Amino acid sequence: EALASLALRRDPGATADGHPVALLANIGTAEDAERLTGAAVEGVGLFRTEVLFLGRTDEPTQAEQADAYARAFAALGGRKVVVRTLDAGADKPLAFVTRGDEENPALGVRGFRLVRGAEALVRGQLAAIARAAERTGTDPWVMAPMVATVEEAAQFAALARAAGVRTVGVMVEVPSVALRARDVLAEVDFVSIGTNDLAQYTMATDRLLGDLADLLDPWQPAVLDLVAATASAAAETGKPAGVCGESAADPLMALVLVGLGVTSLSMSPAAVPGVRFALSRHTRARCAELAATARAARTAGDARAACLALADPEV
Ligand code: PEP
Ligand code: MG
Repeated sequence: EALASLALRRDPGATADGHPVALLANIGTAEDAERLTGAAVEGVGLFRTEVLFLGRTDEPTQAEQADAYARAFAALGGRKVVVRTLDAGADKPLAFVTRGDEENPALGVRGFRLVRGAEALVRGQLAAIARAAERTGTDPWVMAPMVATVEEAAQFAALARAAGVRTVGVMVEVPSVALRARDVLAEVDFVSIGTNDLAQYTMATDRLLGDLADLLDPWQPAVLDLVAATASAAAETGKPAGVCGESAADPLMALVLVGLGVTSLSMSPAAVPGVRFALSRHTRARCAELAATARAARTAGDARAACLALADPEV
């Protein structure tokens, strides 16, 4: 069995000069985890647990949740896994907890804000994750979505540690947290930047509106500045800062993210080989140069074009 689990491990990605960058998968279900068996990923950087409950009208029991998490953990055979607590609300409503009366659900009770009216639900989920971890001999990292303040980060860390979680983090999806990343990192062990929501909230643009895609572009200089602020705060404290938004799947952007100091990239599994290849063609210093070039640009279009001109043409 030890041999089998060794065979499932995957090497980290690395830059041309050998600087390691974890390449991880985004999943939503235990089936997704099972499909990773033969995939060239080191583990899971974002387990979107709300996906397990999207179709349900009633709250899942702790035992049901623990079974689902244990199934996913077992499928990963000891590989790294970052579990995100329920991100209900806004574009992911859950019938048993999401209120239907908000005029601006994206700015309402979503993500970790659920704790305000449904602390038992959050506690129950953390207990289920801890149970599944114990049952499968897994040591999951656990993070909360949609955190906006240091107090929320501290509250989540206390709840997670009380449940027996050893490694606790928060997502950076709201500009306030990126701007104050130093203080937030003092409360947790890691952060994971969700560029989908970070772009939505930085650019004041609904992520579901395709007509406004130019405003949601992760190459927007303001979004890159917030990623940079987060990554440098993390580097100062020696704590990991990953990216788990869609931008991590773009090989050129992945180089920029690594250049900004991001330590892991989580994406849909199909995107991993392209990102792995891009990294292998660029040294860490070249990634830093790409990051500086992107940040010096005045527009999203200029940032991307300048990086395209500087990167290996095969990427
Ligand atoms: C994000 O916001 O970038 C993210 C990874 O979370 P989700 O897409 O599930 O909101
Ligand atoms: Mg998000």
